Amino acid sequence: MSLQDLWFDPAQCLIGGEWVAPAGGGTLPLHDPSTGAEIGAIARGGASDIDAAVEAATRASQGDWGRIAAAERGRILSRLGRMVLEKVEALARIEAADVGKPLKQARADAVALARYLEFYGGAADKLHGQTIPYLDGYTVYTLREAHGVTGHIVPWNYPMQIIGRSVGAALATGNACVLKPAEDACLTALAFADLARQAGLPAGALNVVPGLGAEAGAALTAHPGVHHISFTGSVATGRMVQRAASENVVPVTLELGGKSPQVVFDDADIEAALPFLVNAGIQNCGQTCSASSRILVQRGVYDRVREAMAARYAALRVGRAIDDLDVGPVISAKQKGLVEDFLGQGADLEVAGQASLGDLPGGGYYIAPTLYAGVAQDHTLARDEIFGPVQVMIPFDDEAEAVAIANGTDYGLVAGVWTRDGARQLRLARAIRAGQVFLNNYGAGGGVELPFGGIGKSGHGREKGFEALYGFTTLKTVAAYHG
Ligand code: NDP
Repeated sequence: MSLQDLWFDPAQCLIGGEWVAPAGGGTLPLHDPSTGAEIGAIARGGASDIDAAVEAATRASQGDWGRIAAAERGRILSRLGRMVLEKVEALARIEAADVGKPLKQARADAVALARYLEFYGGAADKLHGQTIPYLDGYTVYTLREAHGVTGHIVPWNYPMQIIGRSVGAALATGNACVLKPAEDACLTALAFADLARQAGLPAGALNVVPGLGAEAGAALTAHPGVHHISFTGSVATGRMVQRAASENVVPVTLELGGKSPQVVFDDADIEAALPFLVNAGIQNCGQTCSASSRILVQRGVYDRVREAMAARYAALRVGRAIDDLDVGPVISAKQKGLVEDFLGQGADLEVAGQASLGDLPGGGYYIAPTLYAGVAQDHTLARDEIFGPVQVMIPFDDEAEAVAIANGTDYGLVAGVWTRDGARQLRLARAIRAGQVFLNNYGAGGGVELPFGGIGKSGHGREKGFEALYGFTTLKTVAAYHG
């Protein structure tokens, strides 16, 4: 796949409303995951580019953007949402070439980005403080204010959606943003920032500095001019980000993935559950923070579910992003190696279902989607986040055991429960430790309205929905004595 849909030079940063070469002049190679071929280069931004971006954001937050009426902020975001919708096809093709997503998944990401902008554009003028009844002679009220400059470290798995949910909410609340996309997935971030400029976002309100995590990313998280950091990625990097934020004593939102279960009881509507059980494991080639990588099944329906899932695995078609099949490649040679290491640790397990890899380009980063059955809950593959198209099935006897297994990892992001028993649905919704619980569905279509985030090693803070607007603002209390 080529990058013919690009309308800008990706070897540049977008700082203060201008395309500029990185100060160090360096570039990083871009590879098409479907073929492994080098298809271009991006900017290798560094600390001085981050300095320039934070300066531009500071000027915007103290100037035009910081003072603009909330309704006008919303109007600009809504206009940007419409422009994204007009560009869905181009954005999807760029994303497919850059990260290897099948085109329909890349299109869905672009539409979700537009939807975040509509949602947060509409919400911009609806966030307000409160008046507080207090002592005689006082009027007390609260103001919701922007943090100022927000830093956004975005991973490579869903660049457009994660930019929509974090940058969209930060801009809607009047923050000016500095965005460091993943080195393997910068292009739609740059495209988005250019569209934002065209939509009338003032210079400096959104700056994008591509580069390496250890260089541009570390410089952004350590920068004393940044007042809030939003990070999505691995636990290991999340720890570093939180440490850097603690040096400057700024709030941080961490979304660090999971090992999310779907729990299937004997009385479940199995036919309704099946597409969710499999899709939630292989969507985006399993590179999804909320992927359902553990399938817990009660023993009465265990064999039936295993056979039906195995049949679905056998029917999965794996191919290049442009072929738009069920599953594409993983993002990089590095990620392929990580997933293959996990598969090596599953050598002792029963493979219940596996897709076949047909005639694929030799250099592409392909992994055969694999379903393991009869996995003990303390096996590495049942505990660690694999971030590839791999699911494990774990049998259970009763509700108490199901809850213990569901809660038996360090993570707590998302869970699904399949049962026709209404009381049991409500008990499990309370008992399972997770940021989101889905009853007789999984993901609810990904709704931008639904607050999202984890507990435990899945991170803290919430993005998406109205809740995100609280995270991207700080609350000031004003107490006036007037006698
Ligand atoms: P990382 O967590 O390292 O990358 C996520 C983002 O953080 C990228 O933008 C990366 O930039 C940036 N980054 C890396 N190092 C630093 C740093 N020191 N300071 C600030 N930012 C930094 O994930 P990987 O890409 O290395 O993937 C490894 C594993 O992480 C995956 O196998 C998966 O398990 C997990 N992961 C989870 C995600 C989720 O959605 N929860 C998303 C992505 C990965 P750069 O890409 O340039 O290094």
